[in-house]
Amino acid sequence: MVKQSKKIPQAQYDVIVIGAGPGGYVAAIRCAQLGLKTACVDEWLNHAGQSSLGGTCLNVGCIPSKALLESSLLFARAKQDFAQHGIDSTAVHLDLKKMQARKEKQVKKLTQGIAALFKANKVNSYKGRGVIKAADQSAQYRVEVMDRKTQRYVAQLSATNIIVATGSSPLRLPQAPLTDHYILDSAGALELQQVPGHLGIIGAGAIGLELGSIWQRLGAKVTLLEALPDLLPMVDNEISAQAKKIFTRQGLDIKLDARLVNTLIKNRKVQVNYATDGKQHQQVFDKLVVAVGRKPNSERVFGKEFGVETNERCYIRVNKNLETTVPGIYAIGDVIGGKMLAHKAAEEGIQVARRIAAQHAGTHHGTDSAGNNAMLIPSVIYTHPEIAWVGKTEQQCNDDALDYRIGRFPLRANGRAMAMGEPDGLIKIISDTETGQILGVHIMSAQASEIIAQAVIAMEMQATVEDLAMMVFAHPTLSESLHEAALALQGQAIHIMN
Ligand code: FAD
Ligand code: NAD
Repeated sequence: MVKQSKKIPQAQYDVIVIGAGPGGYVAAIRCAQLGLKTACVDEWLNHAGQSSLGGTCLNVGCIPSKALLESSLLFARAKQDFAQHGIDSTAVHLDLKKMQARKEKQVKKLTQGIAALFKANKVNSYKGRGVIKAADQSAQYRVEVMDRKTQRYVAQLSATNIIVATGSSPLRLPQAPLTDHYILDSAGALELQQVPGHLGIIGAGAIGLELGSIWQRLGAKVTLLEALPDLLPMVDNEISAQAKKIFTRQGLDIKLDARLVNTLIKNRKVQVNYATDGKQHQQVFDKLVVAVGRKPNSERVFGKEFGVETNERCYIRVNKNLETTVPGIYAIGDVIGGKMLAHKAAEEGIQVARRIAAQHAGTHHGTDSAGNNAMLIPSVIYTHPEIAWVGKTEQQCNDDALDYRIGRFPLRANGRAMAMGEPDGLIKIISDTETGQILGVHIMSAQASEIIAQAVIAMEMQATVEDLAMMVFAHPTLSESLHEAALALQGQAIHIMN
């Protein structure tokens, strides 16, 4: 039951952004920079029950996971690799409390940084759930903001343009309902205060592999139960096959084609029953993480009498301008589907801000040339080595019946990789046979997340593979492998047999 306060503050804006994740906060800042009077409404409460900007990415996603990935990698390297460098690390101990505190500190710094950016850019920030009501005769939408703790309306806002950036939440499985201590989602798995003896993870996607890597490096035995017969089907097959071997060698126990039957909490453990090849199996874990994808937060943002069209999986439908089926209401980021990535959400935010600003200035007609649909969005999985890719995989090129050529370069032939003790992985470039256009770049290597940006630049600037082969790369760098892969495509690699 919603309690109504006597007098609710009211304010009118050019744009109201709902959600302050990477889509929403970037959209709000750019709208304000473009001269639009902008509000951003966000309802996130952190585990201490405090409002915190930044959405999934900063609070329970990209940032805390990368903080723990970094710390856990340092720990594992200190234990396993330092001796080879002549560094005696026999007395390395884990202080998980301190590691978690460091992660919390990074999250706090970055989330508070957004509050400071809002202030500097004159974005008015409202804390609470925003619910959009149908437009009145003057095409103004009303947004009611309700405090989640007190359930009171704290503001009534109006605007002609709304940007819905409400993100996504973890998908749940009826066979593995979440509990306080034993069956967790990804946010819970980032909060563990003790290394579990045996950690089970349902789903071997980006989250499963990143979280699995963290806890395996810190000493847990990790078993991943993946429903599909192949690991990472969205990744180029050659890379995913190498990845499976490397992750298995690292100690991740990856069970493919595993159908979850049910779970049972027994003797402070989680018993998991699953089937592979028609055979039933049982495994007992100290903790179980459910990481089987995410669903859009498209429902709690519209009033009962009003809504926009969604597809069969509840993603908000948008046109190429990212406008929903209701004029003046745009949607961006995870809530519209496609790649559920922070940088994709942020770019969509910028695109919509430009469109709304141009409309306000009366200058905008037609489509945006920087349309996100045409944008190349790189993907990264932050395992070790990292996996990064942009453009088409080899299997997609085959599906599209393209005539292509491939250049490959293994990291073990790269001087810097050897000096770093990072010989695992390869760089693969796929290019159009006739034109030399780069169709896709696929990397498994240390720092692949950094190297892939070079491929994005090359592809966005329409460099051909010959252009890439003619450029000078500093020595010794991991990036030289990209250069060598381009050379290899022409049968001209220097450091491997062509
Ligand atoms: P979100 O970040 O989900 O933000 C939506 C915001 O809207 C939230 O604050 C929510 O509380 C708020 N909200 C929802 N409904 C309302 C309402 N009615 N009123 C007010 N506020 C509302 N992506 C990467 O690119 N790189 C990574 O390394 C990466 N790592 C990840 C690791 C994990 C463990 C997870 C879970 C995700 C990761 N992602 C990563 C994905 C990334 O976090 C999302 O793609 C990104 O956060 C989507 O941004 P968004 O702005 O669309 O939504
Ligand atoms: P995902 O779609 O990447 O992987 C989920 C995996 O779970 C899939 O392999 C799927 O086949 C499997 N699965 C589904 N149902 C299952 C079941 N019943 N039993 C066993 N396996 C099952 O989703 P995710 O890993 O949960 O991540 C969610 C989103 O967050 C992704 O779309 C991703 O883009 C984003 N994310 C990105 C990064 C990154 O950019 N580095 C990191 C983490 C998350």
